[in-house]
Amino acid sequence: MIGQRKSAPSPAAEGGAISPGVRSAAEGRGTLVLTASHVSKEFRISKGHLIAAVRDVSLGLYRGAVVALVGESGSGKSTVARLLAGQEVPTHGDILLDDTPVHIARARAYRSYKRHVQMVFQDPFASLNPVHTVRYQLQRPLSLNAHVRGRRTMQRELAALLEQVRLTPAESFLTKFPHELSGGQRQRVAIARALASRPRVLLADEPVSMLDVSIRVEILSLLDSLRSEFELAVLYITHDIASARYFGDETLVMYAGAIVERGPSEALTRQPAHPYTQLLIESAPDPDALRAGRARLASHARPRARTALTNAQGCPFAPRCPWAEPRCEQDRPPLIPIGPERAAACWRVDVTAPALAGATGGGTAGG
Ligand code: ADP
Ligand code: MG
Repeated sequence: MIGQRKSAPSPAAEGGAISPGVRSAAEGRGTLVLTASHVSKEFRISKGHLIAAVRDVSLGLYRGAVVALVGESGSGKSTVARLLAGQEVPTHGDILLDDTPVHIARARAYRSYKRHVQMVFQDPFASLNPVHTVRYQLQRPLSLNAHVRGRRTMQRELAALLEQVRLTPAESFLTKFPHELSGGQRQRVAIARALASRPRVLLADEPVSMLDVSIRVEILSLLDSLRSEFELAVLYITHDIASARYFGDETLVMYAGAIVERGPSEALTRQPAHPYTQLLIESAPDPDALRAGRARLASHARPRARTALTNAQGCPFAPRCPWAEPRCEQDRPPLIPIGPERAAACWRVDVTAPALAGATGGGTAGG
């Protein structure tokens, strides 16, 4: 079973605020299901050498809502997903399911947890077993996790699952092997397999980035209708901030293991506060976002020599930041509230997003 540790502070008990003073934009949709509370993860990569893959990340997944986690490759997104999925144990902090700290010590505890929390991966070809038919891949979780018994019930459940992911007629897909399906169809089977255990949480780790551009929107719309139909709490991981805007109620931007900005997706992408978010939007294909981001960068950017890609002591983005000042090299900024549902980890938010800083009386100190 999922064990309990009494010591962990519950974010819900702190008034629902995942970051102090900031409400999640996904909170209005439904109740809190899965929480990461001040979670960090370090990996030992050689003797005496640790890397901080995830640093002090807090987030909440709410019933029927989508939280989008955006960042470039290596920023720690998949590690956050694996921590939430119970596949990795946090170095610090807690994962809570319905307010109960998750403590997975045995395979059995993991199986029981997995019934509630399922993952969908980037590469459906790698995540499906190539030697088994679709029927086999779906039957296993149906019998193990959803306790479906009897031939006729199984047949009905299999057909229902395939219909849920719009693979019809079901009979024509059940006998197929993964290599006989298109990329989009394979991802639909992977989604069906995740749904088989009737989870409450779906962690989708770049679920469309390996698919043809033409079918990405179809798969995202499918995920969106499943979210609504089953009131799933969804974490949508992507490096594409334009799709986060389309799909996420709340967007969290990750850089070098930490959340550097959070807010309602629409507001955050229209008026990004953190220089890194501005950079992401500047390079996004969405034309609206593109124009706004470009103008802002062009009017303020000062060319700076790049020394390193991250900075151990101060702000990790400082070496790439056009607005960095000495303070940024020395002190790491926390997430500073810049509105009831928004926060950015930037000392200079009054310069990078003056409208936001002004509207909240200025979230910065000494900027
Ligand atoms: P993303 O999904 O954003 O690309 P990841 O979470 O996969 O990022 O990785 C974040 C960082 O942690 C990377 O530097 C990666 O090399 C490192 N990392 C991830 N998993 C491990 C592991 N099991 N052992 C050592 N380092 C790891
Ligand atoms: Mg990843």
